[in-house]
Amino acid sequence: MTEYKTLKARLDSGDTIIHDAAVSTELHSMGVPMDYIAWSGPSNYTHPSSVIQMHQRHIKAGADIITTNTWSTLRPTLERAGYGDFVREINTRAVHLAQEARGRSSEERDIYVAGSLSSNITGRDPRTGEMGFPAFSSTPGVSAEELKDHYQEVTGIMAEAGVDFFIIEAMGRDNEARIIQAEAAKETGLPVWIGLNAHVDQNNAVMLGGQQSPTHVAEGKTYPGARKLREDMTLSEAIREVITVGPDVLAIFHSRIENVNRAVEVALEEWSGPLMAYPDAGATDLLIKWRDLTKSNEESTEDYLKAAKNWVNQGVQIVGACCGFGVEYIKPLRQSIPKNI
Ligand SMILES: [Zn+2]
Repeated sequence: MTEYKTLKARLDSGDTIIHDAAVSTELHSMGVPMDYIAWSGPSNYTHPSSVIQMHQRHIKAGADIITTNTWSTLRPTLERAGYGDFVREINTRAVHLAQEARGRSSEERDIYVAGSLSSNITGRDPRTGEMGFPAFSSTPGVSAEELKDHYQEVTGIMAEAGVDFFIIEAMGRDNEARIIQAEAAKETGLPVWIGLNAHVDQNNAVMLGGQQSPTHVAEGKTYPGARKLREDMTLSEAIREVITVGPDVLAIFHSRIENVNRAVEVALEEWSGPLMAYPDAGATDLLIKWRDLTKSNEESTEDYLKAAKNWVNQGVQIVGACCGFGVEYIKPLRQSIPKNI
């Protein structure tokens, strides 16, 4: 196990840390089949050696942090995908596979394993009636109590399996759900990094969540006190709320580069602690074409590196990449970001 305190010491000294690229994107590109409901979650169980190789690719490319393949492994999603009896198995394996990749590494630097936690609970698309990943919604129709139970379950499992810290990869506008996740992670006693995605609206304001209004709604009835999507929360408001939980790092993630540029400026105003940025490459079809190898990302490696260097110059200390960006972006990133210590 790598001690988190060495990572904290690096952050405290002002060093820049390299995070990995998108775990599921890389698994896609390796040919690992995605589950229609639980996306890459079951692959910890069905394709363990591929998951290890995916992490090894990131380590070899220069990532200091590798993220567990647990973005889509909450109980409701795994149950709907037919893996309800394997919640513990899949989440435990996800951590162990990342540790295995770290153990096989011959790199001299420390590698940290971040436990990914998301707000993705797969739902039913009300327009088509189909259950599946394209209908995913952030915390659809789930009460605060149920959400808390789901997150406590997986954070407990991942902490027991030995993650070094948690990273809350909560997309969307449900900031209450994001906070519930962070609180569940905090209860383990491990450090917690909290991520927010953002977009710039037609009034040029930096808003929480993605560009498009959510088109999917809750499956089933709405419970009293259920999480409600916030349509109009600014990123500033959202950051002020989440920092009350006491994150160790704040992250801007899963947003196009131009949105991250704006969001980083907001975050630097609202937050004085360590800041992280990892953009996505944008895509419209999450399941089938998220990593279509016949197409190039709109952002070239040069575009991405230019943006990443700007963020570092502004004070961002951890950089990586999210959906659509594969490991090929991490190697040049490592080479272009100077190591301070
Ligand atoms: Zn992403």
